[in-house]
Order: sequence, then C-alpha cells, then structure tokens
Amino acid sequence: MMQLFIPLNFLGFVYREIRGALANIERMFDILDKQPKVVDMDDAIHQSPKLGTIKFENVSFQYDERQILHDVSFEVPLGKKVAVVGDSGAGKSTLIKLLFRFYDVNKGCISINGTDIRHLTQQALRQAIAIVPQDTVLFNDSLYENIRYGRPSATQAEIEQAAQMAHLSDFIASLPQQWQTKVGERGLKLSGGEKQRVSIARAILKSAPFLVFDEATSSLDSRSEKAILNALRDAAKGHTSLVVAHRLSTIIDADIIVVLSKGRVVEVGNHTDLITAQGLYAHLWQIQNEQAS
Ligand code: ATP
Repeated sequence: MMQLFIPLNFLGFVYREIRGALANIERMFDILDKQPKVVDMDDAIHQSPKLGTIKFENVSFQYDERQILHDVSFEVPLGKKVAVVGDSGAGKSTLIKLLFRFYDVNKGCISINGTDIRHLTQQALRQAIAIVPQDTVLFNDSLYENIRYGRPSATQAEIEQAAQMAHLSDFIASLPQQWQTKVGERGLKLSGGEKQRVSIARAILKSAPFLVFDEATSSLDSRSEKAILNALRDAAKGHTSLVVAHRLSTIIDADIIVVLSKGRVVEVGNHTDLITAQGLYAHLWQIQNEQAS
C-alpha cells in the first residue's frame, strides 16, 4: 500500500508543478501578446548600456489618431532620481512604455548614454532596465520563487538581501510558512503594498543600472506607503531612476520632478522649487494634502 501511495503522491506533485509552470507560461504569453511588434534594426547593438543618462528629446507620440505626447524633453542624469507627475491621462506611463520600446516614438528621440534606443536590440535595452510596473504579475508560487523571478540565477543570500532592501523581511518572517508562502492567483493573498514590494525586490535582484518605477494607483494606508517609500529609496541607490508617481509624497526627495499636463512638460524642478513656483505641481500637492487630512 505504502509503495502505491508514494508514486501517486509523487505524480500529484509532478502534475501540480507542470500545471503551475503552464499557467506561468500562458501568463507570459498574455503579456507578450499585448505588446505591439517593435522590430530590431539589422545592425542593432547587442551590448546592454552601462549606468548613465536617459534623455527624452522632443518626443511626440500617438497610439492611434489622438496625440498623447507633444515635444517632451527632459533628462535623467547619471545616478539621479527623476520623477514624472501630472494628472491622470497626462501620458506618464506612456513615457515608460516608450523607454521600454513597447512602442517607438513618432517624433524625437529617446537615448541612453547618447545612443538612440532604436539602435539597440530590445534585449540589450530591457536587460539594462529593471522595471516595477503598475500591475505586477505575480505567479501562484512561493514568495521565494516570485522574487527569484527577477534573476533566476540569484543565490539564496542575494534573494534574501533583495527582500531586505525592499523592506519585506519582517513581513515574510511573520508568515507561518515564511518564504514558502504561496501568494495566490495573481498575488491575491497579498495586499497592494506587499505586491509592490515583491516587485521592488525583483527589480533590485535584477541589478540593472536603470530603475523604472511605475507607481500603482491603488490607495495604500500610510504604513504601506512609508514601507514602499523606504524600499524605493534603498532600491534607487546606485541606479539612474525614473519614477512615475501618483502620490506626490513618494517623490518629495526626487532630484528632479517633471510635471506633465496633457502630454506636455509644463514645469521642471525639485519639490521646493515647484512649491515656490505656485504652478500645477503646487496645486496637485495642495489637493493631495487636503485629501489626506
Ligand atoms: P494615470 O495617472 O491615470 O496612470 P498616465 O498619465 O500614466 O495616467 P497614460 O497611461 O500614459 O497616462 O495614458 C495617456 C493617454 O493615452 C490616456 O488618455 C490613455 O487613455 C491613452 N492610452 C494609454 N494606452 C493606450 C493604448 N494602448 N491605446 C490607446 N490609447 C491609450
């Protein structure tokens, strides 16, 4: 009886593993299918860019007939953190999609260290950028595996360090199954803030020179927000970072804040400059503070 039990048990394990793996692959194809085709040039550069500067120069873009970005220019200098803010629909996430080459610009140029990103292979470009997307795709697997996904070859010590930097260690230690805790379908067993921190840990683990953070719009309590703020601050160290922010409290410490309105850059400066200028940023800041109090 025991002899029969072990193989059946084992087969059950194998079945669950294969089913899990297929679900993950399907999900990856879902994501890839949503990406329109951007083609590499025949002589595209295979070498991934090193830590440096990102430049948007007179970038214009439309998905269909409607112009979304108009002549957008700004720079993310080496090792600095630049935040893009603005009303909903201003075109903030579109900038990230263009940087990642999910689409190509209609006019102007995005360059990294002086090289037009259209001259790089998509693989070389994407290898250089760790992204924390608005909607993190988590697999119904353990927390450990979900973080390891950032760099499958990472060691256990590296994975634990990434979780520590993403301010996840205490949370993981508090769970009955700790690292082996399953996150549920699409990470449903985690809060919005925890999911974002898993995504930050993945990005840290990738150890790419450029870090892009597209903040989720979901509302967070102030403790989760603080944890994300700290995680982001640690993750940005030693990177050139571009942050799309919905909560202005997330980016007070940014070196440069770019304010977008209806696809145009209307203000640039740090938090203090922009508050003093009494323009759109100061107005958005006031609205968010009123909502918070
Ligand atoms: P939010 O703060 O609400 O996330 P955002 O500033 O990031 O907004 P984007 O997501 O860049 O704004 O969208 C800018 C505009 O482009 C919006 O009007 C949006 O409806 C439109 N848009 C976004 N994605 C597509 C798409 N794939 N096809 C057509 N239009 C799109």
